[in-house]
Amino acid sequence: MPKYLKEILLGFIPVLFIFMAFLGINIFPIVIAAGMLTALLIIAHLRGGLTVNAGAGKKRKKEGPSKLTFEEIGGQDNAKQELREALDFLIRHEEISKFGIRPLKGILLTGPPGTGKTLMARAAAHYTNSVFVAASGSEFVEMYVGVGAGRIRDLFKDARNRAVKENKQSAIIFIDEIDVIGGKREGGQQREYDQTLNQLLTEMDGIYNNETPRILLVAATNRKEMLDSALLRPGRFDRHIQVDMPDKKGRKSILELHAKNKPLHPDVSLDKIAEEAYGFSGAQLESVMNEAAIYMMREDLTKVEQRHLSMAIDKVMMGEKTDRETNHEEKKRVAIHELGHAIMAELLRPGSVSQVTLTPRGQALGYVRHNPQQEQYLYTKDYLEDQIMIALGGAAAEEMYYGGRSTGSRGDFDQALNIVETMMKSGLTSLGIANLEMVTTEELMKENSKILDELMTRTREHLEKQRNVFDYSLDILMKEEVLSGEQFRCQFRDSVLLPA
Ligand code: ATP
Repeated sequence: MPKYLKEILLGFIPVLFIFMAFLGINIFPIVIAAGMLTALLIIAHLRGGLTVNAGAGKKRKKEGPSKLTFEEIGGQDNAKQELREALDFLIRHEEISKFGIRPLKGILLTGPPGTGKTLMARAAAHYTNSVFVAASGSEFVEMYVGVGAGRIRDLFKDARNRAVKENKQSAIIFIDEIDVIGGKREGGQQREYDQTLNQLLTEMDGIYNNETPRILLVAATNRKEMLDSALLRPGRFDRHIQVDMPDKKGRKSILELHAKNKPLHPDVSLDKIAEEAYGFSGAQLESVMNEAAIYMMREDLTKVEQRHLSMAIDKVMMGEKTDRETNHEEKKRVAIHELGHAIMAELLRPGSVSQVTLTPRGQALGYVRHNPQQEQYLYTKDYLEDQIMIALGGAAAEEMYYGGRSTGSRGDFDQALNIVETMMKSGLTSLGIANLEMVTTEELMKENSKILDELMTRTREHLEKQRNVFDYSLDILMKEEVLSGEQFRCQFRDSVLLPA
């Protein structure tokens, strides 16, 4: 095809029309028809192609070879080890077929968002010297029947073609958010997704050990329980690797990786930051490092200091400081609410409060920062009840001082309800060991109210005995807007010595 065919045609058509009009031919119907055809073509192009096959493949961004290695992923030692072992199947394919072992077709990475599942898939491509083709489940969702299925076909074709072109023996196809297309199929009405899923299953069944390039599908989800059992059966995604939230050691190594290209002050202790960033995912830790460097730049400094990192933790946890101006009465209510949380936390877990502030951040008008906790994987009933009482402390304090609650307790109640649900599912309530689906809504409501009412009463009783602490701390908090853990504990100690 000549190089400038499109341009020549574009120039020729209007000239032809003008010439026809000059000859006295009625070109109006032709112009209308041409306009409609152009509009149709534009719509088809925007939708990803006139035919299903012309779609996603063309739109997908061509990725260069993956250069990311497993060493560049922090923590996740077990997941990395498991994945490497599974990938050895792809590398040692000759041995495998000699022993009659069927090829590994799919690896499912499950875990919360931002824990490094995509990084793992990229590192897998590097480790096996494969072509890396990535897509997201949502790319296959289309209103029109057959488009999603066509795109799956294209994805596999694209992977094979690229492997051949780049002279690679294997290709890794990564599908993020597989639950979007791989959700459980319900009998009866066929959905568009079902065809897409069927096509995926067919493509997986068509992967053979002796073909070149060999294809390995890696998928990621954080909702494994939603997936159709056909996807999970042996011979399909039969390797499941859990990519968990990092523990303290993992958090430190992720921070170290992202600190490599940043000028850290020699006094910075990443160990301490890893401790403070309790419950953070890899993506959040990356963000902490980034935000800390931004704080450093704002202050015209050349080294990231410990306080920049602490400020960045607050920002990632709660959102950026906002300019929301609260009036005096509202500010006082927020202060009482936050002190309610802080007093309950200090009573139930002495030494746990790190700071109480009235600075609005994200959605919150004030917040209590807690000291880093010990890494914990099991929770007792007492622990969970204490946690609920700390959450209810804000509302209970508002009731004490204002006789009623405000909308400021919404998030606290969500937290309390989630904990109650965990308790019910773990057999820690008077419902005993029960399948919650078999319990009626009334029974659940009754149990829920019983637990929360009782804990609310206990919270009120605790707080009523601490009116002194409220009064002393409130003054400082209203003036300074910040109360450090140490200052707060001083008020606590002093108030014990003072008559109530
Ligand atoms: P999602 O489920 O939302 O797709 P994901 O688990 O695939 O998330 P990634 O996309 O792999 O998460 O990670 C997002 C970013 O977070 C990465 O680009 C990286 O900067 C950082 N990150 C996450 N986990 C790690 C880790 N273990 N080591 C280093 N960086 C990490």
